[in-house]
Amino acid sequence: MSKYFSEKFSKLTPYTPGEQPKDMQYIKLNTNESPFAPPKNVVDAAKAEAGKAQLYCDPECSALKEKAAQVFGVKKEQVLPTNGSDEILLFAFMAFCDASTPVVFPDITYGFYSVFAKLHNIPYKTIPLKEDFSIDYRDYLGVNATVVIANPNAPTGMALPLWQIEEIVKSNPKNVVVIDEAYVDFGGESAVRLIDKYDNLLVTQTFSKSRSLAGARLGLGFASESLIADLNTIKYSTNPYNVNRMTAAMGVAALCEEEYFKDTCKTICENREYTAAELVKLGFKVLPSKTNFLFVQSDEVDGKTLYEKLKARGILVRHFNGERIAAFNRVTVGTREQMDAFLQAVKEIVKE
Ligand SMILES: *Cc1c(COP(=O)(O)O)cnc(C)c1O
Repeated sequence: MSKYFSEKFSKLTPYTPGEQPKDMQYIKLNTNESPFAPPKNVVDAAKAEAGKAQLYCDPECSALKEKAAQVFGVKKEQVLPTNGSDEILLFAFMAFCDASTPVVFPDITYGFYSVFAKLHNIPYKTIPLKEDFSIDYRDYLGVNATVVIANPNAPTGMALPLWQIEEIVKSNPKNVVVIDEAYVDFGGESAVRLIDKYDNLLVTQTFSKSRSLAGARLGLGFASESLIADLNTIKYSTNPYNVNRMTAAMGVAALCEEEYFKDTCKTICENREYTAAELVKLGFKVLPSKTNFLFVQSDEVDGKTLYEKLKARGILVRHFNGERIAAFNRVTVGTREQMDAFLQAVKEIVKE
């Protein structure tokens, strides 16, 4: 830390992204990316825009908003595109939380929530998951705080049914409820259609997982027009050109390729079920996943050791140090070939 660093951030521990080591070619099952490249028209859309990069992009993202409104069945004014969904989550913490409006989220969830809370000095409370790692929706009824829930949750992969989400939203009319649907396309139920009914609901989605665009950085927020207007106040006070022109064009093109992404998500779900069944045969505990990853634990080998031995064999998975989850690893579901290589390595390691 330099002597110039602001006192108010001096104790901040930033979010740790999944590692991207360059020392060898790894099978990357550690950051929940899609193993499938985006389709050609999405790539071409970016190329066409790159030639106009001397010009600022449209700060309103009009074309993308219009296309998203059409695909998701909402109004243009109910959509906000952002630089990854991390950005809309940050905007939401800035817009809807402060010293007198704390935020609550599960004890085991996306690591960025507590980082955002600390960054903006927002008091936060975590609510423990149940013994089986599920969220008890009753813990979030009438909590007098902003609520943030990833549904499906990460890194557990487990989902709440939509009616439980609705109960949470309904019971907190004085506060915003943020539902982070980063993984919803792998088997979850989306709450987007509830935004007309509840003006305190913000739903966030990302193109990083199910739409093969993690490197392009694109997220969408869906909410009542009044919440979107608040989020726009934050956006125009920080970075009006938050979605660059290549990414905005890729987003429109991706939303024209729903068939392609439906197919790739279906393949990933099939590979997930195959991998889960094989791991169970090897004695693993595998949480029921509605995402593109599996959260798995073996009594034969502890979490950290499995992670290290897989890495030595050229396979990256994600290990977290948290107290309740240190025995687990989070394994992104890739292609069938990648999963077979992973399973083969696991078999060898368990035998050792
Ligand atoms: C990956 C992820 C995000 C955000 O991803 P972006 O790449 O910023 O869109 C948000 N929430 C959860 C739970 C995630 O796993």
